[in-house]
Amino acid sequence: MMYTADDVMKIVKEQEIEFIRVEFLDYAGLIRGRTIRPDNLRDAMERGINFSTAIMSFDSFDEYIPNPMYGAGDGDFFAVPDPATFVILPYRRKTARMLCDLVDENGDPWPGCPRHALKRLLKEVESVMGGRMYMAYEQEAYLLREENGRLVPADDSHCFSPDGVDIQEDFVQSFVHALEAMGVRTEQISSEYGPGQLEVNLRYTHALQATDDQVTFKQVFKQIARDKGLIGTLMPKPFEHLAGSGLHVHISLYNDAGENLFADNTDPRGLDLSEKAYHFIGGLLKHGRSLIAIGAPSINSYKRMRPGTWAPAHICYGAGNRSVLVRIPEKRRTRRFEFRGGDGTCNPYLLSACLVAAGLDGIHNRIHPGEPASDDVSWLTEAQMQERGIARLPRTLEEAVDSLSQDTILAQAIGREIWEEYIKIKRTEWEKYTRHVSDWERRLFAQRF
Ligand code: GLU
Ligand code: MG
Repeated sequence: MMYTADDVMKIVKEQEIEFIRVEFLDYAGLIRGRTIRPDNLRDAMERGINFSTAIMSFDSFDEYIPNPMYGAGDGDFFAVPDPATFVILPYRRKTARMLCDLVDENGDPWPGCPRHALKRLLKEVESVMGGRMYMAYEQEAYLLREENGRLVPADDSHCFSPDGVDIQEDFVQSFVHALEAMGVRTEQISSEYGPGQLEVNLRYTHALQATDDQVTFKQVFKQIARDKGLIGTLMPKPFEHLAGSGLHVHISLYNDAGENLFADNTDPRGLDLSEKAYHFIGGLLKHGRSLIAIGAPSINSYKRMRPGTWAPAHICYGAGNRSVLVRIPEKRRTRRFEFRGGDGTCNPYLLSACLVAAGLDGIHNRIHPGEPASDDVSWLTEAQMQERGIARLPRTLEEAVDSLSQDTILAQAIGREIWEEYIKIKRTEWEKYTRHVSDWERRLFAQRF
């Protein structure tokens, strides 16, 4: 909905909205914000709401990191709610929500703002590629409940089971109705492979809107589950033996005449993809290792991306192949491709921005992705991988972040401030993880040694 500030003021008055939540995402992917009253709204849209810059130096555990870039003396940025993102929360009383761009004291984009980085890159796509980038975020997520102090799947539904959706009808319908009322269009609802695991597909739309929509999904899934006495989680691998939850991003490019610029039915490889599409994919593969640090940014992410799980573990692309990093859907479906390396713990603005930056690098340097993989690459030996030029994705957060720290192209794309602080945050999380002694570890070693 392309509301202006005046539209928003009018709706707030007409609908008697009393509370407006203004929100943005930190680098760890957590949603942060404040609630303002209608009398402050006009001023907020004009001048923004101040937050300490130090909030961007927090990690996923909500802890301030050592040696932060933004200290107590580093002042504030201002979160300016974007009127185009105004939505009424249909499941709350007289409450609306707006997503923000972050600006500095002079009202210029704050260099640490991920949403701004994405907007800048999307403009570059338009001038370089002659079309607009579209995306559809496809998130898998679990519904859990607490049983004797343990978290367990909320039901025991099987893959594509109509029963899963039936058992959770109350949640599913409330969730989908809420999304639709908030302007997020949904296409399909499925019971996924894991018990209690669902997938709700969002309709493709302009990349910025699609990314905002993912933020809405992430928030509403948890809030409605909580209202129903359940725990909704996008965490990538809640259970060692059950399917992980991926976040797949479908990417396409259309010009103003509605032509699909990634489609070409004269493609000699028979995939009906254009040269632009191949080069974009080439860029995604070239930056695959560091894209993973952005798309799958948690210690838990790497427990999901294991061979033989339908989550990618290798850097390659292929048609109709679920073991690859970039999947080309079957030819009966519209020409596009799907990046399968994300999960729900990412900051979607950073993920979209880095996907676009990697693709643009492929376009600028005419990077060809090589031959598509048509087999399940999960079980290739080292020798076979070498022969085919297929590399493994990072196996840990540490490895992924090391790759990101070498990636000057992504650094430039999201801005050096974000890149540096992000790497520090993720290294702090890794460090905390390596220090942690789990119950499992204690039991195992205390009994044997
Ligand atoms: N659950 C898998 C993942 O973690 C994806 C399964 C599917 O292709 O739907 O990415
Ligand atoms: Mg799925």
